[in-house]
Amino acid sequence: MKGQVHYEKRGASALLSIDNPPVNPLSSGVRQGLFDGVARALADNEVKAIVLTGLNRAFIAGADISEFGAAATQGASLNEVLEQMESSPKPIIAAINGTAFGGGLEVALCCDYRIASSTAPVGLPEVKLGLLPGAGGTQRLPRLVGAAAAIQAIVSGNPIVAGKALDMGIVDKVVETDIVESGLEFAEEIISKGSPTRKIRDLVDKIQADKGNTELFELAATGLDKTHRGQFAPQQILKCIEAAVNAADFDAGMAVERQCFSECLSHPQREALIHIFFAERAANKIPGLSKEVPLIDVQKASIIGAGTMGGGIAMCFANAGIAVLIHDNDPDGLQRGLKVIAGNYARTVAKGRLSQQEMDSRMALIQPAASMDELGDADVVIEAVYENLDLKKEIFSKLDTIMKPGALLATNTSGLDVDAIAASTSRPEFVCGMHFFSPANVMKLLEVVKGEKSSPAALGTAMALGKRLGKVSVMAGNCPGFIGNRMIGGYSYQANLMILEGATPAQIDKVIYDFGLAMGPFAMADMVGLDLGWRARKMRGGSNEVTSRIPDELCELGRYGQKNGLGYYRYEDASRLPIADPIADEVIAKVSENLGYQRKSFSDEEILKRCIYPLVNIGAKLLEEGHALRAGDIDTVYVNGYGFPTYVGGPMWFADAQGLGEVLADIQRFFDETGADVWKPSALLERLAAEGKTFASLDG
Ligand code: NAD
Repeated sequence: MKGQVHYEKRGASALLSIDNPPVNPLSSGVRQGLFDGVARALADNEVKAIVLTGLNRAFIAGADISEFGAAATQGASLNEVLEQMESSPKPIIAAINGTAFGGGLEVALCCDYRIASSTAPVGLPEVKLGLLPGAGGTQRLPRLVGAAAAIQAIVSGNPIVAGKALDMGIVDKVVETDIVESGLEFAEEIISKGSPTRKIRDLVDKIQADKGNTELFELAATGLDKTHRGQFAPQQILKCIEAAVNAADFDAGMAVERQCFSECLSHPQREALIHIFFAERAANKIPGLSKEVPLIDVQKASIIGAGTMGGGIAMCFANAGIAVLIHDNDPDGLQRGLKVIAGNYARTVAKGRLSQQEMDSRMALIQPAASMDELGDADVVIEAVYENLDLKKEIFSKLDTIMKPGALLATNTSGLDVDAIAASTSRPEFVCGMHFFSPANVMKLLEVVKGEKSSPAALGTAMALGKRLGKVSVMAGNCPGFIGNRMIGGYSYQANLMILEGATPAQIDKVIYDFGLAMGPFAMADMVGLDLGWRARKMRGGSNEVTSRIPDELCELGRYGQKNGLGYYRYEDASRLPIADPIADEVIAKVSENLGYQRKSFSDEEILKRCIYPLVNIGAKLLEEGHALRAGDIDTVYVNGYGFPTYVGGPMWFADAQGLGEVLADIQRFFDETGADVWKPSALLERLAAEGKTFASLDG
């Protein structure tokens, strides 16, 4: 194997350059190369200092995920490398040329000094995979920046730009000039001072200042309940940082870190988070879509419909630097839409997360189009008008005459038949669904819906465009509701049925909240407004669906949800906090009794199964039919589009964790009790359960 760390003598310094393209992960070769390089520098009497840098675009981007598992035991261990560096009598200077994440930053923290290129981000993102920095990061960072800043950095796992890293004290200097030359110059200065070392493990000032500050950790723990509810790794991180401050010495703190790390490693949340990490990447790989398929070069976009979705989608394009024309047949609606967009950006500016200049340039990319005819020159058009098939067909037949040849024609429909829409054009091969989620400028998920005639070029372009817009894109087949909305129907229906059968909204919502979603179905319904569905049903001449009876009755009584303070819950003043309301519960009980239900009590476990298992059974049917390509795609949809807790890994992963035999037994029992179609066990689920397999096993 070619050496992954190059060694050069430059004056009185040894320059070690990590070379494991593209992002220099800590492979066994890199670890061994570092170990050998430092040993060689230590053995050379002429070498007075060591400069460590990365070739390519990263310093060290982190662990080598391709080595997760057995191969990681080859070569020097990371701890051996770090111990050798930290005990080096010759100062080591990290010249951080680019990304230094995870183990990469931990390597830099074992150096005596750190200088960084102004474009280099640093960070400890392990928490995102259910882990913690297990190579001393939780012990060294607090010694450098204090416990509060270390908690913030490690629990969030977010990248820290070089300038901020300098302010925090993580790096000693930020340079705009050549990082290697600057590193060597820095080394010369240190050498001229007699090559003093500066080991972070020996720094005590910051942790002395935090000692005995119990409030700091109590506040942090309360904060975690809000920001990382239900998550294991952040709590362990807190324990480690507390140990960095309060343990007898550095080694005692390291022992706590080792223990907490191994607990994270064996925790099911870590596996679930890693599953999602890989599932999101796998979702991009579409069978039959090779790299050779020529994609449409998207320079300009058009949008029809400047409502909730059209406006959000326009922001996605502008945020990605793509010019976009937006049209609405209602001129007031168009102006309103632009105003909403400007308001959204202005709020981000007010929060300090966007500069006024950046807002202005994004707004300039979004231009109104008074007539649909102006849209024709775009490379992609996204339709976001009302959810009405006839209207969408009419729009697409017009687009067919307006749009230039070779443009992608996409619909943002939530679940209508993409083939019927495509059939209204003479170029169905250029039509597909691009289903964004609300708010489109915020939500990560994009379902790319494959019509029967959608060409590889159209689908490839939509997937690639999703990536450019910063989305996690998943390919879905053309069936009612596609992946996400088809499944969610079963969840909402069961929740609504259970309140007829005897559960209360508060009980169901609590079960779902405790499971990890931000809110349960009834708090959500109150937030959206019960009157929307009620009015829509009235317009259709009413609904025969038994589950509509309760929301209809609540609306008849003037309970529209959060907007007027009364719905399934009551709300005090302007608060959005749902308060269980005996009056609403009485209405519910009365409707259910009038319908002849014998009200019964529910265990929390039963409620959870009734809500989540429809997702699993419908998900299995989607796989069976080929409307979803992988179980991991379904999990990706749920985590990114429906607030399903990432640390549970999505509904299919959750089912695997329960054991598919157990899940099937419950689904079969519900089917035997009700005969409802949603509970008819999927043949795929039956087969996997019989073979003792998992959904994940299908994805390989
Ligand atoms: P909306 O009512 O907020 O906006 C629709 C806009 O389309 C209105 O401004 C209307 O004036 C305009 N419009 C209607 N007919 C038109 C025509 N002939 N030409 C040009 N403009 C026309 O609706 P929305 O919530 O933005 O939904 C739009 C689409 O996105 C629907 O298909 C919906 O199912 C889908 N969708 C909605 C959500 C959501 O949560 N709101 C999420 C995903 C997908």
